[in-house]
Amino acid sequence: MSDPRETRGVAPLMSLNAYENALKQFEQAVHVLGLTPDQVAMIKDPRKVIELNLPVRMDDGSIEVFRAFRVQHSVARGPAKGGVRFHQDVTLDEVKALAFWMTMKCAVVNVPFGGGKGGVVVDPGKLTLGELERLSRRFFSELALDIGTETDIPAPDVNTNPQIMAWFMDTYSMHARKHSPGIVTGKPLAVFGSKGRTQATAQGMVYTLEEAIKHLGMEMQGLRVAIQGFGNAGSNSALLLAPKGAEIVAISDVSGAYLNEEKIDIDAALSWAAEHGGRLTGFETTGKAKKMDDPMQLLELDVDVLVPAALENQITVENAPRVKARLIAECANGPVTPEADAILNDKGTFIIPDILCNAGGVTVSYFEWVQNKTGYYWSEERVLEELDRVMRDAFRNVLASALEHDVPMRVAAFIVAIESVTRTSELRGLYA
Ligand code: NAD
Repeated sequence: MSDPRETRGVAPLMSLNAYENALKQFEQAVHVLGLTPDQVAMIKDPRKVIELNLPVRMDDGSIEVFRAFRVQHSVARGPAKGGVRFHQDVTLDEVKALAFWMTMKCAVVNVPFGGGKGGVVVDPGKLTLGELERLSRRFFSELALDIGTETDIPAPDVNTNPQIMAWFMDTYSMHARKHSPGIVTGKPLAVFGSKGRTQATAQGMVYTLEEAIKHLGMEMQGLRVAIQGFGNAGSNSALLLAPKGAEIVAISDVSGAYLNEEKIDIDAALSWAAEHGGRLTGFETTGKAKKMDDPMQLLELDVDVLVPAALENQITVENAPRVKARLIAECANGPVTPEADAILNDKGTFIIPDILCNAGGVTVSYFEWVQNKTGYYWSEERVLEELDRVMRDAFRNVLASALEHDVPMRVAAFIVAIESVTRTSELRGLYA
C-alpha cells in the first residue's frame, strides 16, 4: 500500500479500508432510520462481484497479467452505473466501496441507476499507448456478457479518460455486432458523448457549494480555496471557481502541492499541466507558486473551503484536528474517514458529502445515456440547466433531511438514499 500515513503509523489501518468505512456510514443512517434486518439485507451487500485476470501482450512481446474487478452493488433502481479506475493500489474492497457509494449517489440525485464500479490494478503511466489500449479492450471484452446498456454502464474514474471510453464503446459494439453508444458514458463528443460531461463533476460541486454558502451566510467572492488533485474533478473545480471570485490559494497532484497565499493563476497552472503530461511537476519554477514541503499540509491550510479531488482516506483521525476549513466540498469519493468525520462534525465543519457533492458526473452521464438511447443530442445550455436543477434540488433535499433528523449532511444524504433504495426494493420484492 502506498498511503504514506500507514508507514508513519499514525492512522489505524482499520479506518483506511474504504469498504469498512462505507459500511460504517451506512450503519449510522440505518440506525437513524431504524431499518429492519430484512430491509438492510436487501440493500447492503453487492449483488455481483467479478474478479478477472487480464493477459495483455506488451510491446516487447511478453505477456503481462493484470488483476481487475467489476462490482455491481445494486440494480434495484436501474442498471448498475459507475466508473472504472486504473490505479496500482486498486483493491476489491476499494471497488466494493466505490460501487456502494454509486448506489447511494444515484439515489441522492434521483437518477434511475443502481451502483457499480470497476478497477484494474495498473499504473497506466508505465504503459505505452498501445499497451493501454490492449488492456482497456481486454477488460471490456472480458466483461461483455456482464455489462449492457440496460444492465451495467461503466464511465471514467481515476486515470481513465474519454479516449479509453471510446475504446470501451468500440470493443463492446464490435462484440454485440451493433452500434452501442449507451454502453459507456464519458465518451468524447465525436464518439457520441454529451456536451458538459468533462466538467460535470466539478460543475455539480460548484452548484452544491453555492447552495452551502447561501445556507451558511457566506459569499463566493474572496473565498479562499485549496484543491487536492488536479485531474478531471480538481482542475475543472479550479477552472469554474476562479471566475466566480473564489481565490484558489493551493492546488496539488501526485507531483506535490503548490501554494500562493495571494492566489494561484489557474490558467497558468492548466497550461503548465497540459504541457507537462497532465501534471504540475515543476510548476514552482514559473514563480507563480511555491512547492509545499509536505503535500498533505494542503489539507491543513487556513482556507474557507477545502476541495479534496484525489483519492479516498485523505482526512483521517491524524490530521482532522488540524483541518481549518469551514467547508469541505468532497469532489473525491471517500476522502474523509468516519473517525475524521466525527472530529470535523464536533468542530462544526460543514461537509458537502461525496455522494451529493460529486454527483454531477453521474447526472450528466445519465443525460449522455438518455441522448444515446434517443439519438437526439442536447445543447450545452440544456445540459447545464438540467444539471443545475438536479444538484440544487438534491442539496435542498439533503439539507432538509439533516435539519429534520438533526444529523450531519453525510448521514442525511445516506438517509435520503437508503429510503429511496429501500422503497424501490420493497415494491419490487424478491423475484425468486
Ligand atoms: P483523475 O485521474 O482525472 O485525477 C486524479 C488527480 O489526483 C490527479 O491530478 C492525480 O495526480 C491526483 N492525485 C493522485 N494521488 C494524489 C495524492 N496522493 N495527492 C494529491 N493528488 C493526488 O481522476 P478524477 O476523475 O478527477 O477523480 C478524482 C476523484 O474524484 C476520485 O475520487 C473519483 O472517484 C472522484 N470522482 C470523479 C468523477 C469523474 O467524473 N471523473 C465523478 C465523481 C467522483
